[in-house]
Amino acid sequence: MTETSTAPETTAIRTDLLIGGEWQQPAAGERMDVTDPATGEVIGEVAGATVADVDAAVAAARKAFDDGGWSRISGRERSRVLLRVAALIRERSEELAQAESPDVGKPIMFTRMIDVPTAADQFEYFASLAQHLDGAVRETPLPAFAFTRREPRGVVAAISPFNFPLILSSSKLAPALAAGNTVVHKPAPQTPLSALLMADILREAGVPAGVYNLVIGPGPELGDALVRHPDVDMVAFTGSTAVGRIVARTAGEHLKPVAAELGGNAANIVFADADLDKAIGAVINAFVFNTGQFCMAGPRLLVDRSLYETVVGILGNAVGGVPLGRPSDPGTVIGPVASRAQLERIEQMVQDAVAAGGTVVTGGHRVELDGGFYYAPTVIAGLDNDAVAVKEEVFGPVLTVQPFDTEEEAIRLANSTPYGLAAGVQTGSISRAHRVANRLEAGIIWVNGWAMLDPAVPFGGVKASGWGRESGPEALESFTRSKSVIVTIDPEDAA
Ligand code: NAD
Repeated sequence: MTETSTAPETTAIRTDLLIGGEWQQPAAGERMDVTDPATGEVIGEVAGATVADVDAAVAAARKAFDDGGWSRISGRERSRVLLRVAALIRERSEELAQAESPDVGKPIMFTRMIDVPTAADQFEYFASLAQHLDGAVRETPLPAFAFTRREPRGVVAAISPFNFPLILSSSKLAPALAAGNTVVHKPAPQTPLSALLMADILREAGVPAGVYNLVIGPGPELGDALVRHPDVDMVAFTGSTAVGRIVARTAGEHLKPVAAELGGNAANIVFADADLDKAIGAVINAFVFNTGQFCMAGPRLLVDRSLYETVVGILGNAVGGVPLGRPSDPGTVIGPVASRAQLERIEQMVQDAVAAGGTVVTGGHRVELDGGFYYAPTVIAGLDNDAVAVKEEVFGPVLTVQPFDTEEEAIRLANSTPYGLAAGVQTGSISRAHRVANRLEAGIIWVNGWAMLDPAVPFGGVKASGWGRESGPEALESFTRSKSVIVTIDPEDAA
């Protein structure tokens, strides 16, 4: 198999595994199809790894870590390499945007505007933090000099999901590498293309052989082998709560740390004092961005009862006007969902919502276009708080709307979910914004907006949304461990 033979036409993406600095065919010779969600057609194939490849990748990462050529060089030297990674991402931005778009079904406007620049920003931000891996001096009554060091954890298994392949890989790789770890990366098997390009970029930027390794293949088999591998020191997992539970259980058995970034089901609260035009903009953005396949989406709208009919009416008229179409069209805002399975799941959840008494205000059906996996943006009113579409993560362009009568009730409804990744407060009162934000059980709260993110600001969840933090100095923290060194000061020591 030549390395470029069956990748999508627009790119020259290598399609094998990167292990120990070499592009390698998978041990069992398996290949996996890459499907374009905009047509349902196979547009290429990539290597399908097996556990033997995981073992080889972990061995390469272990060796690279123990050799010290990355883990023991200065943070400043690592920083220079990470800056080259960022520069190459920017140089190859169109190539990355063109690969990510058909792989995930993401509108090209967003892969250009958000996914690729954010990946570069992550590497620039953590290149800077790589130079600040400071410990602390501790004053004690001991006859000693006591200080702490921040050290890398070792070999990190980075397991990422299908919905933001490039961003969510970079948000792991940049801090993990900045801290001096070596990595075995397993992207979601449905969306491997940007990871293959990134592997090439990391190599070209001068990340030493074995420091970054890429295996592509089925999650239950490869992911599980990585999590239980004795030479993997830490797991950085982003994915569903169901799989997160399995990963945490296995990691717990082996007493290894897991950064768990899991599912979400955020509430977006619109108070009567909100600027209604802006609030509606935030509401629509919160549930259609990334075609609703956004862990921090806001699929649960809570509206002050005095505005309820008005808001439902506005949404009914406005939502159908959000441009839905081919991801390659620069005007498209809503593309297809990433897979046929995802489409069928959304369709079933909407049917169940109607059976449970919900009223479809707009949408509620597939959209036929080129045989792709399109679903119309959908608003459902009239559901009880315990309906499945309200309680569970739909992960598609579907919004449920519920009224509330008091601030207290809004907070209670917002928190009445096992998840706690994000929440939104749309209000004209600064005091209410703070009061409500302080009481919402979520890792990130947006006031008068939605989905603004930056590598400097940590994100992650509480409750069933996990406990990891990506971005910000907090991410670097989680990829390091603290060591205390106590040096005896002997008064008798000969000078
Ligand atoms: P998923 O849980 O199905 O898969 C995530 C990753 O885990 C994939 O790489 C998959 O191959 C792998 N995997 C599957 N089974 C495994 C196992 N037994 N052991 C180890 N790894 C395994 O999730 P998905 O469908 O790819 O992504 C969507 C989910 O991810 C949604 O629930 C979404 O909310 C969540 N998500 C969370 C965040 C966050 O930051 N909290 C961000 C994006 C997505």
